This record gives sequence, C-alpha cells and structure tokens, in this order.
Amino acid sequence: MKRYLVQTMGCQMNVHDSRRIEEVLAADGWRPTDEPALADLVVFNTCSVREKAEHKLMSALGTVRGLKEARRGVVIAVAGCVAQQEGERLLQKARFVDVVIGPDHVAELPALVARARGGAAPVARTVFDVHAPAFLDATPSPERLEVSAFVTVMKGCDERCTYCVVPYTRGPERYRPADAIVGEIRAMVEGGVREVTLLGQTVNSWIEPRPGATPADAPPRWSARLARTSEFAALLRRVAREVPDLARLRYTSPHPRHLTDALIEAHAELDVLARHVHLPVQSGSNRVLRRMLRRYTRELYLERVARLREAVPGLTLSTDIIVGFPGETDADLDETLSLVREAGFVAAFAFKYSPRPNTPSRALADDVPEDVKSARLDAVFDAVGATQRAHLASLVGTTQEVLVEGPSRTDPSRWTGRTRRNEIVHVEGADLAGAILDVVIERANDHSLMGRIARTARPAAPPAPHRLRVLA
Ligand code: SF4
Repeated sequence: MKRYLVQTMGCQMNVHDSRRIEEVLAADGWRPTDEPALADLVVFNTCSVREKAEHKLMSALGTVRGLKEARRGVVIAVAGCVAQQEGERLLQKARFVDVVIGPDHVAELPALVARARGGAAPVARTVFDVHAPAFLDATPSPERLEVSAFVTVMKGCDERCTYCVVPYTRGPERYRPADAIVGEIRAMVEGGVREVTLLGQTVNSWIEPRPGATPADAPPRWSARLARTSEFAALLRRVAREVPDLARLRYTSPHPRHLTDALIEAHAELDVLARHVHLPVQSGSNRVLRRMLRRYTRELYLERVARLREAVPGLTLSTDIIVGFPGETDADLDETLSLVREAGFVAAFAFKYSPRPNTPSRALADDVPEDVKSARLDAVFDAVGATQRAHLASLVGTTQEVLVEGPSRTDPSRWTGRTRRNEIVHVEGADLAGAILDVVIERANDHSLMGRIARTARPAAPPAPHRLRVLA
C-alpha cells in the first residue's frame, strides 16, 4: 500500500488546500500515515505569509532527507506558496526534492509523483491557471465529513497591499461559478456538514465568472469608495435559498472596501448568516493604511462597522492587525488602539511586520526596532483581550445557541462548539458532534465560555469522529 504524509505549514487557506491534496492522493490509491518512516510520499504544504517561511521549510526538509537515503522510491514534494514563489530554485537548493507544485497544480500531484517514482527528473509546476481556472471539488465521503467545512469561492487577489506576498504566490483573482459552489455545499450538507465557511483571499469581491468578464468590470475598481457589485450578497442569498438545511454560513476573509450595502442588507435578512464577521483592518492610522495601500480610511472602516451593527444588533467582529509597519509611529499605534476599542473587536490575529519576498514594502526601511514591535504587539493584544473579556463576561447567565464541533482537545469529558457570534463554548456531555444546543452560560474564561445544556435543538450529526475539527 502507498502511504503519504502531508505536513501543513500555515494559514486556513493552506489547511483547506491540504484537504484537497489528501483527496487527490486518496483517489489515486494513497493512504495516510502519521509516521514519516512509513511514508512513501511526504508533501510539505507551505505558506509564505509570515516571516522565515523558506527557512522553516528548509529545516523541515532536512528532517526527511534521511528517508530518501534509507529507502528507495520515497518521494518528497513541496506545495503551496513557498513552492509557487521559489519554483525551480527550490529544486536547486534542495536537490532531494522531487516535485514542486504551486496551488493551481494540486490535481497533477499523483501523476507527477508516479513519474518521480518511475525515476523521472525533479519537476516544478508553478504557472497560474489564469485562462482556464480550475477549482477542486471537495469529495464528500463518510470518512471525510466534518461538522464545519470550507468551500472555496475564489482564488488569488487583485489588491496590492504593499506588505503582502499573496498576489505573487496565488495570482490574480479567479472566481468559481455559483452552480459549483452551491452544488458542493448541498453535497456537504446532505452528508452531515452543518456549517460552511466560504473561502477566498478577498471573498466578498466574488463575481460570477462570465465569458470575457474580468475583475476590472466591477466599477470603480481602484477607488477608495466601495468598489464591488452586489454579486457576493446574491451568492449568499442563493445558498440560503437552495440549501435550506444548512445551519450556519460564514465567509472569510472579506476586504473592508467590498463590504457593500447589499452585503450588509444580506446580513440583516439571512438567518443562516453568522452574527460574526472577521474584517481585517491592519491599522487604525490613515497614514499607515495609505502606505499599506489598503484603499480605505479609518473613517470608512468604522462607518461600515457601524452600518453592520445597525443591521445586525449584537454582531461581533474580529480582525487582523500588523504592528511595526515601516514608518509607524507611537501616534499611529495609538490610532490603532483607539480603533480596536471603537470597533469593539472581540478577537484579533496580530503580527509584527516583516518584509516578505517580492513585495513593494521591501523598498521601505524596516525602521521600527524589534523591541518596539514587540511592545506594540503586546499593547494590541492587551486592548483586544480587555474587550474580549468584557464581552464574554457580559454573556454569563444568558442562553446561547451552540453548534458543537467536536471533543475538547484539553478535556475529553467536554465538547466544544461556537455560537453564531463565534464565541467558543465548552459543555459536558456525550457524542454531541454536530448537535445544535441551547446552552446556559455559567462561566467566562479569558477566551471561551463554559455552559450547561438547556435544550437540544438539533441532535448530533453522524460524521466519523476522527475527521472532526478538534478545538483547544
Ligand atoms: S487583500 Fe491585501 S492582504 Fe489580503 S490577500 Fe490581497 S494583497 Fe494580501
């Protein structure tokens, strides 16, 4: 039996891509193993959004080099953003690597691995599928289903945020047809999935692909004003209408400048839409936002947030923040901290800036000292932590609807789920995966809630337990 090991290094998008890699390998007769020593194929699915990605890949590759020396026929493959970025260069730097594939070439992996096993020379495939974009359907099966699943609606990015490597590793925006998106969601829900998250780099810039249509058709493309049409909102409405058994619908990550009135109206209208939006802001300073080329202002961001909250009272927000961008001053950081409080974020992914390969901000001096970046990062986490703790404490004594996602990783007697507003809730019970519960909140921790089951609104779904997403 041929055995593979996929090691995922990076973001949500990569976790999703790793699933597609596993599916194409399974369809070719491969079976998973967790043991590198038993693997006939090791795939590193890489991410280059954060610092030292290539360095991390090279040390990870070092750990499996011995496999090839110990056993003939072992194949080493590198996929994802570092593969796309480095291409042939990676084959020169690590001569024991057999296959390098960018994100658009996952479907070719089994054939390339078969060629490598047959003794073919190492190969790199990194050309974007711009003219005939392909999206791999998830392959629903009882073995694979989860309570909560991702569905890709678009790939690539037409923005050019000056710090971001994604446009260069994922290519221009390409959109998946609505029929395929809705079909995949329907198949997942029929198989037991309760919650779907629509996935894309700027997910709310989705438009229906049409012959001859390009992203530039959406007016006015580079304006700081809201740019997109209402097509993403129409897609949400169609999913709600055509897959009525879907319990919850989320999307990630939207770009603030495409948070149109139509999308806000969809939030007010559609019960299936989560009462939570992850809306990356990156900075609260207009000066820094301009240097980042984010194409919105602090005022526009807060105006959109206010409109969303007006449409959906109680909606929660999380965000992404970068500290220490070139030229960022203490005054800029104060603007970010005040925006954190004003927007009331209940969670944030915050990072210290580091220059990424090929990005425009490399031309700017990385002039914020490391210790200052660290202190600013702590200040952001403190501000968000204070908002989060106050928010969670305010929920003690209330009853919340919780979709149980899986067993707790830290306490096997507990199950973990989320509310519609994305608060993490732990409850005690047995075999609850996929259940929708009314939970009385009894205690607030720093990042989660503890509760008691008051009522089972929908019983547990039947997916295989070992495929469930396990939360901390
Ligand atoms: S919107 Fe900006 S940060 Fe997000 S993927 Fe595109 S370029 Fe990167």
